[in-house]
Amino acid sequence: MPGSIDAATPVPSVSDARSGICPLCRGVLVRARVDGEHSFHLDRCPICSGIWFDAGEWAAIAASEWLTHLDDLWDPVWRKRVRERRAEKRHLETLEHALGEEAFGKVVDAVRVLRSHPMRSLGLSFLIYELRGPGR
Ligand SMILES: [Zn+2]
Repeated sequence: MPGSIDAATPVPSVSDARSGICPLCRGVLVRARVDGEHSFHLDRCPICSGIWFDAGEWAAIAASEWLTHLDDLWDPVWRKRVRERRAEKRHLETLEHALGEEAFGKVVDAVRVLRSHPMRSLGLSFLIYELRGPGR
């Protein structure tokens, strides 16, 4: 089916077909934003499922995590999950930067040990007790 994405056969550029109408079946294209270093938009036809993009966009998609599940770009639930995962990753990177690699690694280890421990609340109490107030 021309216009649909197949990892092995990239669709040629159709940048002049960006009228919002599917060049193949005249369906009204639905736009999805592709986030990345250089964000761009892809248009998908809800009727024939064709996805339209420029050559440069194909290269970006081919190199991205989206390649294996392109349809998810139009799935708001999936997109929300990706956003949340990215936010969490950024949060951890900020923490690691602030604490330093070694201290961060030890804190992460402590969390890992306690998380699955049957007496985790005891461990948490100990940490809170030891760490509250000024350093001693
Ligand atoms: Zn179409």
